[in-house]
Amino acid sequence: MALYRLYRESLSLLTDLYQLTMAYAHWKTGSHTKDAVFHLSFRKNPFNGGYAVGCGLSTMVDFIENFRFDQSDTDYLSTLKGHDDKPLFEEKFLSYLSNLRLNVDIHAVPDGTIVFAHEPLVRVSGPIIQCQLLETALLTMFNFQTLIATKAARIREAAGEKSILEFGLRRAQGVDGGLTASLSAHIGGCDATSNVLAGKLFGIPVSGTHAHSWVMSFEDELESFKAYAKAMPNNCVFLVDTYDTIDGVLNAIEAARWLKSTGHKFLGIRLDSGDLAYLSIEARKMLDEAGFEDAAIVASNDLDEHIINSLNAQNAKISVWGVGTKLVTAFDQPALGGVYKLSAIKDGGEAWKYKVKLSEQAIKISNPGIQQVRRFMDEDGYVGDMIFNVEDKLPSECTIVDPLDMTRRKRIAAECKFHDLLVPVFLNGRKVYDVPSVQSTRSFVREQLQNFHPTYKRIMNPHQYPVGLEIGLHELKTDLILHERENLQTRRDASVRTAKTKKQNSGVGAEKVSNSRKQNSPVSEISPLSLKSESVSPPSLPGSLEKSALIIVDAQKGFGSSGELPVARAEEIVPVVNKLMEQFPLVVATQDWHPADHISFAINHADKKIGDTLNAGSYEQPLFPMHCIENTKGAQFLDNLHTERITRVFKKGTDPDTDCFSGFFDCAGGKATEMDVFLKDSGIEHVFVAGLATNYCVKETALDGIKLGFKVILIEDACRGIDKVGCRVKTAIEEMKNGGVAFVTSEQMNYPTVKVQSGRKKGKR
Ligand code: ZN
Repeated sequence: MALYRLYRESLSLLTDLYQLTMAYAHWKTGSHTKDAVFHLSFRKNPFNGGYAVGCGLSTMVDFIENFRFDQSDTDYLSTLKGHDDKPLFEEKFLSYLSNLRLNVDIHAVPDGTIVFAHEPLVRVSGPIIQCQLLETALLTMFNFQTLIATKAARIREAAGEKSILEFGLRRAQGVDGGLTASLSAHIGGCDATSNVLAGKLFGIPVSGTHAHSWVMSFEDELESFKAYAKAMPNNCVFLVDTYDTIDGVLNAIEAARWLKSTGHKFLGIRLDSGDLAYLSIEARKMLDEAGFEDAAIVASNDLDEHIINSLNAQNAKISVWGVGTKLVTAFDQPALGGVYKLSAIKDGGEAWKYKVKLSEQAIKISNPGIQQVRRFMDEDGYVGDMIFNVEDKLPSECTIVDPLDMTRRKRIAAECKFHDLLVPVFLNGRKVYDVPSVQSTRSFVREQLQNFHPTYKRIMNPHQYPVGLEIGLHELKTDLILHERENLQTRRDASVRTAKTKKQNSGVGAEKVSNSRKQNSPVSEISPLSLKSESVSPPSLPGSLEKSALIIVDAQKGFGSSGELPVARAEEIVPVVNKLMEQFPLVVATQDWHPADHISFAINHADKKIGDTLNAGSYEQPLFPMHCIENTKGAQFLDNLHTERITRVFKKGTDPDTDCFSGFFDCAGGKATEMDVFLKDSGIEHVFVAGLATNYCVKETALDGIKLGFKVILIEDACRGIDKVGCRVKTAIEEMKNGGVAFVTSEQMNYPTVKVQSGRKKGKR
């Protein structure tokens, strides 16, 4: 009941206006009684982590149980006007709202459930008007709580068994942000909070002693410690860094001796600034020598899981971690990005019609069906999660398919134990679920995490826990996508035919159609006339590189000046690329990575020699000397390249039967390297290209980048080419310019440097 103890009025208007206008339109057209199924899920694990802690159900239960449009709500809605200055909603609709009682079914994951991208956290089914009216509030509740509980679990992972205190209220995102953060942080793994109202509402232990202002209100620090000790002898953690930390520790020890002489226990000291590793080690020595081995050292000052990890690595002697700002504001990912998508609809007694939302980005295509998640387990722990349609009969041995890459599949052994994550919470509008206590929710998080392999919980570059669609659901989804795309094409073709007829008839209307065609096309259309190389104006560089990535193409020893397939002066790009990498928050690289029997090696074709070509079916394969063979020196990156800056490496040319020049697609045009999906998932709009060789792989990568809708900029002096008869660098540059690639030099790139994220794994695929 915390929600309504805090916000005493009805919360039914905690929604976006469009939910109400849609509800009105459903009601007006009579479609409001259609049955629908919606799922709430997120697309990417937060903080580049390996998992999330699902959270929000207890608040949702509160909200749904009390969901009513009261008189004050409908009074307010009756004052809203449309663009014609008439009331936005009819009186009759408002009285429909006042009488509305929810009769939806809601299934959800219990608070504290470990969840992953694409998995439903909540399933709402029932009259579409009701599903829609709940959308915004449910997202508000689950997005933020899940985000903070996850951040707290990561901090817990870094802190190990040490205590964690949360004191973020003063920096939190407003009143509710502060309260919700304290609750979710406790569930995720914090032991206590400074937030007293959260303590009262949720039963979280509260903690706190004194601030710098206490020390400063006295003439001297020792006097202030003693005064505090006299007033509150049972709660003494002295903040020692007001003036000089080492002096502060000496004063704390003196005050502690006084406490001891009066029969009280000195709890410890707090460090809130300076070099926490050094100061904690020194303070520990001083406290131990004075006989206070039990005294705790509390550390605070912008801590998060990364800093805690680093302090642990430096052997800091910290016994309690105080975390605030970075936890309650979910630094450095301010939102989870959860969505609520329609996945099935039906009229009365009909069968369900399954629905998908299309997108050019695979990650944004929604999943159809009435979904449940099954978590499988063997004797070593959890092995994988399967999203399935509850209407389908499942085979005894299940296969799951990665929703973003259908070639990645996993068979789950029939003898695995399992349980389903979504539990019934409301059936026909009636609550059928008892919300567990905050304390048991908190232990639930710890218990489950113990059953996940440590590599999934790693703070940086975790392994991906297997989550997939049950193969039957995958096939349903694929059919629906193909069907929808076909429909779309038919409608487009029809609209073009209509437009052509109109143009012939009246001479107007054509422009509008071509614009709408452009918007729909995934490939940017470039008029060859307007992009002659002479007319290319200096490229418009983005204001910051936040949405930009640097792609380093094949900067490998095999292409070095004395490599297997030499590119003259290839090594000269290394210092240039190293400097460029410092400006980019995201750097990726491609790596030519051939099996020894690769099609591009002349030696593998009895009647051919280097320089010949071969008909490879869908393309002409040029033949080269053997180069960049997987796991050999030739495939390694050039010496001195700062590879620790590279977030991800995409290997290409791994298929013996097809070459791969472009970093995006193989030469046969069929198989993708996943770089496209990765860059789009990372929100990238501009790609800057560097590497080897300008007239082969660099060119193909740049041109494919344009086709995929990126703005592509080639950094001229960060590339080198192979100039020989028949394949001139100059011709390749013309081709790229005509294709829409912009050109800069590294001199023109003057963005501020960004900090490297330490610990990134080299060569991770
Ligand atoms: Zn190659």
